[in-house]
Amino acid sequence: MTSNSNAMFFCQSCSMPLVKAEDFGTNPDGSPNWDYCSHCYQEGHFTEPDMMVDEMISRCVAIMRGMHLPPSQIKQTQEAIPWLKRWRTPLV
Ligand SMILES: [Zn+2]
Repeated sequence: MTSNSNAMFFCQSCSMPLVKAEDFGTNPDGSPNWDYCSHCYQEGHFTEPDMMVDEMISRCVAIMRGMHLPPSQIKQTQEAIPWLKRWRTPLV
């Protein structure tokens, strides 16, 4: 019964909390992928492989504003996204 659990999964692309089984993306063999959500990652591929981090941030901010989340939380997400696994990987 903790409201602030560190054991929680977050999508490593869009920072969405992954709670239910259907929230998780899927690997090529159909098993759940623990790193990404079903919106970002399906069957071993990113649904939008050309997406840039700035686009992801503005998309998430728009969704969060639509959900009337507090500005502090939106700012936190904005700052967290560039550090997620998908975006930290240096482009070679
Ligand atoms: Zn995602």
